Amino acid sequence: MDYLKLAEYFEELEKTSKRLEKTFIITKLLKDIIKEKDPELFINLIRGKVFPAWDERKIGVSDKIVIKALETSTGNSKEHINKLFSELGDLGEVAFELVKKKKQVTLQNVRLTVDLVYNNVRDLADLEGEGTVNKKIGLISELLTSATPLEAKFIVRLILEQMRTGAADSTLRDAIVWCFFSDKLRLSYEQSTNEFKLPDNNRKEYDLFVDKVQHGYDLTNDFAEVFKIIKEQGINALEKITLKAGKPINVMLYQKVKSVEEAFEVVGKNLALEYKYDGFRLQIHNNNGNILLYTRRLENVTKQFPDVVDLIKKTVKGENFILDAEIIGIDPVSHKWLSFQNISQRIKRKYDIEKLVKEVPVMVNVFDIISLNNESLISAPFVRRRNMIEKIVPNIPEKIQPAKQVVTDDIEAAKKFYEESLSLGNEGIMAKNLSGEYKPGSRVGYGVKIKPILDTLDLVIVKADHGEGKRAGWLTSFTVACQDSNGNLLEIGKVGSGLKEKEEEGTTFLEVTNLLKPLIISTEGKTVTIKPHVIIEVAFEEIQASNDSSSGFSLRFPRIVNLRSDKKVSDINYLDEIKITYDAQRGRNK
Ligand code: AMP
Repeated sequence: MDYLKLAEYFEELEKTSKRLEKTFIITKLLKDIIKEKDPELFINLIRGKVFPAWDERKIGVSDKIVIKALETSTGNSKEHINKLFSELGDLGEVAFELVKKKKQVTLQNVRLTVDLVYNNVRDLADLEGEGTVNKKIGLISELLTSATPLEAKFIVRLILEQMRTGAADSTLRDAIVWCFFSDKLRLSYEQSTNEFKLPDNNRKEYDLFVDKVQHGYDLTNDFAEVFKIIKEQGINALEKITLKAGKPINVMLYQKVKSVEEAFEVVGKNLALEYKYDGFRLQIHNNNGNILLYTRRLENVTKQFPDVVDLIKKTVKGENFILDAEIIGIDPVSHKWLSFQNISQRIKRKYDIEKLVKEVPVMVNVFDIISLNNESLISAPFVRRRNMIEKIVPNIPEKIQPAKQVVTDDIEAAKKFYEESLSLGNEGIMAKNLSGEYKPGSRVGYGVKIKPILDTLDLVIVKADHGEGKRAGWLTSFTVACQDSNGNLLEIGKVGSGLKEKEEEGTTFLEVTNLLKPLIISTEGKTVTIKPHVIIEVAFEEIQASNDSSSGFSLRFPRIVNLRSDKKVSDINYLDEIKITYDAQRGRNK
């Protein structure tokens, strides 16, 4: 396919904000590529990526490099390009304008195919060593020289990983169902009226197909693979996907409840309680002696934790497994448990790792097992999975252990366990149904978390304000958002306090500013709009109703307590959860 055709689809997608229309456009595109030899690359491109979600490679191109490439390929000065950039707020649009002007003068006749663009952009990620920057500029300029304006726009956006077509994972999932089953289900969509029709008696089957595709995605983290499996083997083959140690799967999530009583109601009496450790999650893979570690965002952090790799190799039995664990820090002097805040530097640090291993030792608390010796355990009841953990994970103080667990149906005993857990500095407890399956990627009632009501929210930064006076140069106030059940972001006010000016005092304005700068989409006065990516944990005194924010709520005395670099946008708190806390507060205040 010509890249131009794909760019036209992207343009169509960008133009609508309606989710159903987006699903329809992606469905058209999927139907178009079904016969292509390599649909994989199209599916990655729809997601705005050249790598699947589980692949850790990054394109690694900054705005600066793109601006240089635009200088070379269009013959405009850096000043002119920067001026246009600040007017349009998007380098894709800048590329469109510059190439449009140039094309009126020269006529190029090279056709760009999707293959060519895709492979060249992928090559950018593999460039290393001396002269890398110049090589990158060269590769990008080459593409831009042959591009039409629309192609240039979407090449630049692809390179910067800012597609802005709004193709969310859930939309792509539904489009895959529409693509293969619209005839079978007699499903139709009318673009002019945005009307979706599905006969009532087919609704159940439709939901089932959506669930199956989601399940396939949760296991593979790769819509391209899901698409290929349906195309070649049919939708039921998605249930037979085998888990491979070395390829991360989406982690299981837990919904939140307010009290021990509610936990028993949601989960049932047949439950186990566990400490909810306040650390960060690691998915630990052993692929025949090759240990790999992934965060809950499925980023590969193996290099940062040589101590954990070594520990797992030496102490956990089994050639081949995938474990779910919470890592906490241990104070080397007082031997107390440290919270996430104290060990977050271990995830980020890329140098002096051995030194940090000694300064901030960690302990591994294994709370689930997903596969063992090539047997997938996701359908095995939790009680069986826990037995396996106890068989293969030893109990070595301050190093590794199965997560502390009690099995009880007594509410009073459960409350005592909850108190005990909180007094040790944990966040709360988990309650898990002993017959529950491992459900990757979903918040179902097989397990819940119980945390004190007024605590913190994980929110994503969507806007920020430049500081003034001695804080000029930093972003110092942040508009944050939660999500609704469709993943739409809803603002819930601003937060400024909690960050520090000096590094030794904690997370600094500078650190957050540096994280946000490459994500700036546009500027208006002292406010910048930011691509939602950076998650912060915000403590507050109370949730208030508010007419000024799109969520309908704001936070009283909000304060940033942590950067949650281990979380992704889909992990932020839901509006429903905020409503629950809001209602609970009101009950309490009465
Ligand atoms: P939250 O981050 O509030 O959504 O709570 C869920 C997280 O708690 C999981 O993703 C784990 O990182 C963490 N956690 C700590 N202890 C446990 C445990 N025993 N079982 C499951 N998750 C745990």
